[in-house]
This record gives sequence, C-alpha cells and structure tokens, in this order.
Amino acid sequence: MTQIYNRVALIGLGLIASSMFWSMKRGGLADHVTGFARSAKTRDTARRIGLCDTVCDTVEDAVKDADLIVLAVPVGVMAQVAAQIADHLKPGATVTDVGSVKRQVIEDVGPHIPKGVHFVPGHPLAGTEHSGPESGFATLFDNRWCLIVPTEGSDPDAVDTLQRFWRGLGSNVETMEPDHHDLVLAVTSHCPHLIAYTMVGVADDLRRVTDSEVIKYSAAGFRDFTRIAASDPTMWRDVFLTNKDATLEILGRFTEELFALQRAIRQGDGDFLHDYFTRTRAIRRGIIEAGQDTAAPNFGRSG
Ligand code: NAP
Repeated sequence: MTQIYNRVALIGLGLIASSMFWSMKRGGLADHVTGFARSAKTRDTARRIGLCDTVCDTVEDAVKDADLIVLAVPVGVMAQVAAQIADHLKPGATVTDVGSVKRQVIEDVGPHIPKGVHFVPGHPLAGTEHSGPESGFATLFDNRWCLIVPTEGSDPDAVDTLQRFWRGLGSNVETMEPDHHDLVLAVTSHCPHLIAYTMVGVADDLRRVTDSEVIKYSAAGFRDFTRIAASDPTMWRDVFLTNKDATLEILGRFTEELFALQRAIRQGDGDFLHDYFTRTRAIRRGIIEAGQDTAAPNFGRSG
C-alpha cells in the first residue's frame, strides 16, 4: 500500500475512470476519491456500486480539494470540462487526462489551467469495447503501457509523481511527445478501429443478400472485428475528429497497401502474398513476446 495522492477527483465515471478507482483501492494509492459524471443516472449507479468514496453532484465540488484531477471524459468535451473546473482547482494540484488523442487535448485544456496548477496529460493504452460506470475492473491497466505526454513547462516533480501513480495502477510507463503519440496511436489503434467499423459495415450491407448468414456463420476474424466495432460511438467519433491528420496519413498508406494486395490477388502473385503474410506473422509474434497478448488459440476464449 503506497499512498501517492491524498485526494483524487475522477471527472467522468466510465470504463477508464471506474477501472482507475478499483485499481487505486487495490493499491492504496489515494486516501479519498471523489467522482462526477454529467448524468444523474451515472452518478446514481456509481453510488449504488460504491464507485468513489464520494460522488458529487457538481464538478466544482468534486475537484475543489483534489491533489490530482483526472479528466476521463470523451476528447470532444475536455475543453468544456476544463473551463468549468478552472476556477475551483487547488494551488499545487495536478490535472491529467486519459484521452486517446493528445495534441488536441493539450490545445483544448492547456489554456484553462491556472498558474500554480500543473497539467500533465496521459493516455493508458488499455481498454475494452464496454463503457460506462459498471464496466471497470481493477486489473485493466496491469502490464499495459501508459504514455505520459508532458507539455512544455510541465513541472518535473508533478510528472514524476504521476508516473509513480500509473505504476501503482499496474502500468508500465513511458513519456512521449504529443504529435508522435498521435501518429503511433493512429497506426496501432485508431485506424484498426476504423477498418473494423468498415468491415462490419460491409457485412451489414451484405446481410441483405445473405439473410443472417453473416452472423450465423461468423468466423473468428469477423467476430473480432465486430467486438472492436462495438466500441463507444461518442468516444470514437471524437477520436477521428481530433486526430484527423495522423489518421488520414495512415489511411492513405493503408489504401496503397490494399491496392498492392489487390493487384497480387488479381495477378495470382502467390509469392507476394506469402512474403507479405510472413512479415505480418512476425509482428504478431513480437506482440506476444512483449507480453501484450496471449498466444492461446482464439485469444484464450473458449467459444
Ligand atoms: P465512457 O465509459 O463512455 O465514459 C465517459 C464518461 O464521461 C461517462 O461517465 C460520461 O457521463 C462522462 N461525461 C461525458 N461528457 C461529460 C461532461 N461534459 N461532463 C462530465 N462528464 C461527462 O468512456 P471511457 O471509455 O472511460 O473513455 C474516457 C476517456 O478515456 C476518453 O477520452 C477516451 O478517449 C479515453 N480512453 C478510452 C479507452 C477505451 O478503450 N475505452 C482507452 C484509453 C483511453 P454520463 O455517463 O453521465 O454520460
């Protein structure tokens, strides 16, 4: 049990915030955790399941005595929430966020942070397709990466304390520059989600031709796409609206590769396909060796 902050405020009580709460309790990282979400329904659910030591009815109440304030809301409302809390932050406190995009959040939140309060953005690379206050669990961040993205002038002590906090939540921690973060995430997360959305959309069109066969005979590849494509629509709309340049850059490259594969199929160029798939298989092995996924068949699922 290593307490790192006295009081922590979680703004937004969805998958990420609720997982942070259960993990903070597991590690004894904070003495008191307040929480706020925009709807009374979510706040009531949080009270019912014991999510947060105190659930506040206003965001101002939630942040006023906090040493760490975590913005765990969709990227598109970060600016609005930052403006709401700006005048109620304790001098010396640290504001962080968990948003999936970093450059836009820094531009949106940074200007609202008063002098004497530290702003240290972050992004845990962990999630599921579920959302809401009941979807969180204490082990979500275990052995996953959390990227800390200090801004110009971020206080080194505040950065160091936040890194220790994320280690306490179970993560491996690294710092990264914002634009690089957004490009890396466009490759590893944002574009794969868009491709999954597209594939499921195509299957949905086909369903009209094949009745329910797409669902009935759904094989593992397609089922994995549908899991990703079930992710929260608000969160993902905001990701694409705020990480526009990097996702368009990677989608451009993706399209070129797709054309190359299309040509190989049309021309019957088996060597090209075999070499390509051999390279991609090695990437999968690398992910397993890095401990970021399981080698068990079907991702360890039984069905
Ligand atoms: P979530 O489960 O959908 O929860 C979002 C929460 O934000 C809800 O409690 C919602 O309240 C609240 N909220 C929305 N607008 C608000 C406002 N204006 N003021 C106060 N609260 C507001 O979302 P999540 O998956 O935890 O994602 C939160 C953040 O983490 C996002 O920025 C996302 O990009 C990032 N992230 C997500 C993942 C992932 O896989 N899910 C992974 C890493 C990072 P109501 O319930 O009352 O609407």
